[in-house]
Amino acid sequence: MDCLIKSVACNDSVRIYLVSTKKLLEERLQLNNYSENGKELFGKVLTASLLMGGGLKNDQRLSIKMKSEIDSQVIVTEVDSLGHIKGYINNPNCSAGEPLNGGFLTITKDLNIKKIYTTTIPLDYPLVQDNFTYYFLKSEQIMTFVLLSKIGGVLIQLLPGYDPKIIDSLKEVIEEYYDIEKYLEQYPPKDILKSMFNDLNILDTIDVKYYCDCSKEKFARGLKTLPKQEIETIITEDGEAEVVCNYCNKKYHFSLEELENSIKK
Ligand SMILES: [Zn+2]
Repeated sequence: MDCLIKSVACNDSVRIYLVSTKKLLEERLQLNNYSENGKELFGKVLTASLLMGGGLKNDQRLSIKMKSEIDSQVIVTEVDSLGHIKGYINNPNCSAGEPLNGGFLTITKDLNIKKIYTTTIPLDYPLVQDNFTYYFLKSEQIMTFVLLSKIGGVLIQLLPGYDPKIIDSLKEVIEEYYDIEKYLEQYPPKDILKSMFNDLNILDTIDVKYYCDCSKEKFARGLKTLPKQEIETIITEDGEAEVVCNYCNKKYHFSLEELENSIKK
């Protein structure tokens, strides 16, 4: 099973998360037809989501939306603190990939404290990973290095009180492991981490998996939020509705009666 390893190193002044996503991506890919670029982009955003999700606690959730100008690609993912992830790309068969050419990256955090935090940054960098690096610096003021691939990645983050001298050695580590996909193909995740830092301390390892929590009740609640007129049009034109979950392709059927009930006060 894929896993997320949380660790610290350099006298506990650096946080390192490493995630493997090969199996969960394979599972997700079975649901749609993907081009090589589609796989690459989608896989990288799934990896980034799980790395960012490493900081979540209890019922907290995080979602990412990457809207790229090329091919009008939209990638959406959602992750929770238990390592469950779901996501979709609107155009899995896209012909274009990196370098990106503009767009937006939106990170939404539901920290379960009645407030939802949303940050949007422009996709100013050609590589997906560099946009995430920029997000951490700009939005969270934390110096972070992010390496992403479609089968996993690494996040290295400086913690308060770090010795500025370690930045150079971190840059060397990033340079050495820049092709993170190659390492993930060859070595177990734990071995990669241990070879990166000699004073590594593993704090936690959690299984990560593709998981969709959709249900008919959730879609029914969604229907209630649609304008009444829209539902009335469906009722007169089709007399029933079928909705498909973007995340898992599961289909839900709504009968005429259920549709009529959804617009009753
Ligand atoms: Zn679903």
